[in-house]
Amino acid sequence: MNIHEYQAKELLRSYGVPVPAGNVAFSDAQAYSIAEELGGDRWVVKAQIHAGGRGKAGGVKVARSLDEVRKIADEMIGMTLVTHQTGPRGRVVKRVLIEEASDIVDEFYLGFVIDRASQRITIVASAEGGVEIEEVAKRNPQAIIKETIDPAIGLADFQCRKVAAAMGLRDKERMTQLVRIMKRIYRCFRDKDALQAEINPLAQVDGGKLICLDAKFNFDTNALYRHPDVNELRDLDEEDPKEVEASGHGLNYIALDGDIGCIVNGAGLAMATMDAITLHGGRPANFLDVGGGASPEKVTNACRIVMEDPNVKALLVNIFAGINRCDWIATGLIQAYQTLNIELPMVVRLAGTNVEEGRKILEESGLPFVQAANLDDAAAKAVATVKGESA
Ligand code: ADP
Ligand code: MG
Repeated sequence: MNIHEYQAKELLRSYGVPVPAGNVAFSDAQAYSIAEELGGDRWVVKAQIHAGGRGKAGGVKVARSLDEVRKIADEMIGMTLVTHQTGPRGRVVKRVLIEEASDIVDEFYLGFVIDRASQRITIVASAEGGVEIEEVAKRNPQAIIKETIDPAIGLADFQCRKVAAAMGLRDKERMTQLVRIMKRIYRCFRDKDALQAEINPLAQVDGGKLICLDAKFNFDTNALYRHPDVNELRDLDEEDPKEVEASGHGLNYIALDGDIGCIVNGAGLAMATMDAITLHGGRPANFLDVGGGASPEKVTNACRIVMEDPNVKALLVNIFAGINRCDWIATGLIQAYQTLNIELPMVVRLAGTNVEEGRKILEESGLPFVQAANLDDAAAKAVATVKGESA
């Protein structure tokens, strides 16, 4: 789960990590009064969306008067911001962060991630900050340093000093600051079950102080139950509304951009189904996992969510019932047909528990289900249906 920059900064502030003074605004009037309260004569207005690359896209702007803060906030709130991370559709800006402007002397990159290979928290750092780390990795891989943290020991001072040296921060004062910042971020990262924390840029400002000018946090969704404070930071506006609705019904839905809607049980089978569709020259519109123990209601909800995507031209239901029961799935599909007025062709492949009953229920329903013998057959039939439709 991602959170906004201003939320990440509040979290960091609570751990004693230096961040600029600032606050979030939902309107231009609020932006004005926050800037007034902050004082000073330069402020930064920053679009709050769950995507980076805002600077280049016009989502980070400096204001030199309170009226300018209001004007920029007014322009930004409600605009659709397209950055290289949002996709072509962009994101609508609903809140802006107003913070004091820093006089930047140098920008660094400091990231914490869970490295799946070593199964440990790993620091990724570079003297080249303020630019995309992926770009640095391509152009100048030597400019990136990695430090893996031993969970039994924790983040050691010598590791922080190594990072400091790689960033070119060799004087004692800067090193001391960086060690403190790194240890506090690490503590926050562990406390909150984060998966990723990215400070880009970590800046050295006029006077020598180090401060986090940007902050991105990602948390382990499976651990949210033990962090109600983090869970509260969730912004559903930033998530695909159908994925949110699906999760409310205990379904896993991932939107893709093809035209075959897939209703499957289990992530492995979902992937195999998408592979089979692709192999037959088709494109999946989504990935919908009904999970185990799918009741007829769950199946109906699944059909509805998939059909709400206007790109879907055919449905492919692929169930390998272990905990599930094919007769329940069949009943759910019939219920879906009747309550949702499905007009799309539906290819169904059932296997496993109560498969005979399931097939019989579908057959005897008199509804136009296309039954498939196996996955390959199902994919071929679904692709043929879609191609026939568009031909
Ligand atoms: P993004 O990564 O989405 O482009 P950032 O928060 O990193 O957004 O901002 C882009 C750039 O804007 C930063 O690299 C930094 O140079 C500048 N910037 C951001 N916040 C401030 C601030 N408070 N004061 C001065 N400059 C800032
Ligand atoms: Mg940034």
